[in-house]
Amino acid sequence: MTRRRFIADTFTDTTASLTGDQAAHLARVLRAQPGQIFDVVSNGFLHRAEVLTVSDREVVFKLHEELEADAALPVHLLLAVFKFDHLEWGIEKATELGAARITPILARRTEKHLALAASKRVERWRRIALESSKQSRRTDVPTIDDPQTLKAALQEVIAPTKLLLAETEQDNTIAAALNASTHQSIALAIGPEGGWTADEMQLFTDNAWHPVTLGPRILRAETATIAALAICSALL
Ligand code: SAM
Repeated sequence: MTRRRFIADTFTDTTASLTGDQAAHLARVLRAQPGQIFDVVSNGFLHRAEVLTVSDREVVFKLHEELEADAALPVHLLLAVFKFDHLEWGIEKATELGAARITPILARRTEKHLALAASKRVERWRRIALESSKQSRRTDVPTIDDPQTLKAALQEVIAPTKLLLAETEQDNTIAAALNASTHQSIALAIGPEGGWTADEMQLFTDNAWHPVTLGPRILRAETATIAALAICSALL
């Protein structure tokens, strides 16, 4: 039986709590009652859990046995900021496909007004990732970093295999690069609608990133995100 799954906001060793919107939803819409059983992710681990107390502000669960769960895909996505509705769709799909971390990049060709508004938008992106994690039955929520410049973001990347998705690359496919890599942890970078500039491409090269192609067609950034993650998911 597929049970509803929640991701706890706070937890101890033996209990987990939902607060804010999650608690209100469970209390008012689902009318949860003490004794009901749900699946709850607490501190990154999936448990069977029993409702202890319910209020609009907090629902407390007693944690029962731990359940088996899949780990996130070990992929750190550097995603240039582009039109918000497309970007948000991309964040939702990247979460469903299992990306572990997403860093929004203020690229040179990110439109000015989007770059200015991005930092106010990031909480919404985190909520999208949380909802998408629950919907796709993930046991974790991807980290959504604050938007930052490419230079700053590159310093934070620890994945040993770093693949730059570039429509200008003709030979090295992402599948070949993944097959040749001995590492399990991957970073992927997807550019904005206008693509990366020459100085950004140079920054990638200076930081040991390898350009890879998804084929001869120019894909929208959100399509490239989904295609790249689907290939990672199949090969990692
Ligand atoms: N610079 C291009 C232009 O304006 O003609 C298009 C950029 S594309 C819309 C946005 C991003 O998607 C690119 O920066 C790249 O990261 C990725 N991308 C699109 N098509 C790709 C392909 N065939 N192979 C690899 N990456 C691709």
